[in-house]
Parts: sequence; structure tokens; C-alpha cells
Amino acid sequence: MPELPEVETVRRGLEQKLNNFIIKKVEVCRESNVAFPSNKEEFIKGLHNSLLYKWNRRGKYLIAELKKIQNENIQFPLEKSLKNNGFLVVHLRMTGYFKFIDNYTQPCKHTRIRFFDKKNNELRYIDLRSFGQMWWIKEGLSPYKIIKGLGSLGPEPFSKDFDANYLKKVIYKRTKSIKAILLDQTIVAGIGNIYADESLYSAGISPFREAKTIKKNELINLKESIVDVLKKSIGSGGTTFSDFRDLEGENGNFGLQTNVYRRTGKECRKCKNLIEKQKISGRSTHWCPNCQK
Ligand SMILES: [Zn+2]
Repeated sequence: MPELPEVETVRRGLEQKLNNFIIKKVEVCRESNVAFPSNKEEFIKGLHNSLLYKWNRRGKYLIAELKKIQNENIQFPLEKSLKNNGFLVVHLRMTGYFKFIDNYTQPCKHTRIRFFDKKNNELRYIDLRSFGQMWWIKEGLSPYKIIKGLGSLGPEPFSKDFDANYLKKVIYKRTKSIKAILLDQTIVAGIGNIYADESLYSAGISPFREAKTIKKNELINLKESIVDVLKKSIGSGGTTFSDFRDLEGENGNFGLQTNVYRRTGKECRKCKNLIEKQKISGRSTHWCPNCQK
């Protein structure tokens, strides 16, 4: 599943590629990918003549700010008078990705939703397992109220709200493992399996530790490790793992080299001990028993 660095890579790609993209046509090839409104015609109609104005990210959600374009001959830079048209929110889930197509190609059978501008450039949403979701939240409604998962997200790892004090406060009674805590989106937004394992390795903390037993100085370390690991990965365009694709359809082959994730049985880069794997809350967890206590 794409995690924060991959979603951020996609966000940057969308912002770069979609220069003044005004939706002229929407084709929904699979209705289940439209989460809201429940009537897909309303989704299609609502997005018609919408400018994809600005792309934001919150956790693993992409949030496009929309402007309604009434007049075909719109001048750029945009006049301030343009009306807001709510938000297009996207969650890629397991295997969703976007492809920008300015030279027409046949859609593959996993194509779920297609957006066209008047020049027939296409923003194509492809999703093999099809768990991805899109919402059109019309002006006046709040995406944070309508999308439960979005409304309940914990702080962004890069925000000032996310620090050792915050972590201490939310985990001091928790008996769950620290790994499970990091995967909980209501505690911190955007971290999934890969970056939880990598951050815990970098902080020297065993993923099995009961959250409440982790000391303040370790939490300071953990926070720094999380930020560091995520930043490095964003800088290299996401990891090689998962089915993540950027807008060119590449899967980050030059992405971050992991230290523990999917390195079971290989030598630890610090101590030469072998990396082990075990499940925690149903998720494969990779760690070095020697470096992580
Ligand atoms: Zn080690």
C-alpha cells in the first residue's frame, strides 16, 4: 500500500503534470471506486467544468481543491473571482495509481475512472485490486465530516503537533505493541508497514515492545527517526516495494533502500546479525533482534 512518501510523490507529480487541467468529461468504468456521492451521475456532473486547482495531502489522502469554470475562455493566471467547487478526495488503498496521458492509449482492463480535458488529455485512474476510493465533496460540505477516516486522522509526522510529548500522552496506558501504535492512523497519519519497520529499526526500538514501556528519550529518538526515514523516502520518490506507481507509471525503482523491510534472513547493515520476520496484528514485521531492544 502506498504510504505517506509515495502519496506525497504522487501529489507532487499531479501538481507538476496537471497544469490548469479542467475536467470536461468523466468516465466511471467501475462504480465501486466512487465512494461519494452515492449516485455516480452526481459525481460526474459535479466534476464537470472543474479546474483541478491545487493538490493537498493529509495522511494517505489526496485532496484536490476545485474551481468551477463557467467561461471557456478563462485567462491564466486565474481571476480571483472563480467559484470554489468543493474537493476531489482520493485514497489509493492497495494498488491504485494515476497516469497522465497526453498521447492517447487504450485503457487497460484495470482502468476505473477517467478524467479528460478539452484537448483530450487524460488523467487515468488504474487500480488492479480496486479498493481505491474517490469522493466529490461539494462546496459547503466538509470532507473531514463526510470521510470518517480523514476526519479521525492523527497529526502529520512533520507537524509540530507530533513530538515526544504527544506520543507519551497517547501511549502511556497502551499495552499494544509500538508497531501497532505506529500503524494506527488516528495516532499518527500516513505511516504504514514499511515505514513503521524502518523507523523502529532506525530508533533501535523493538517492534514488540509494549507502547507504554517506551521511555521519553526513546520517543524523542523515534520521532526523529520517523521524520528522517519519511523525508529520505520522499526525496527518492518512494520505495521499490508495494504496487506503487508514479504518474509516469514507474514504480520508484531508484527509491529508498530499506534496512529491514523485506530483508528477512539478510545481514543487518549495522551488526551483521540476521534480520527476522514475524507477524504483529496480522502485518509482517521485520527487525534486527540485536539492534532493537
Ligand atoms: Zn543489527
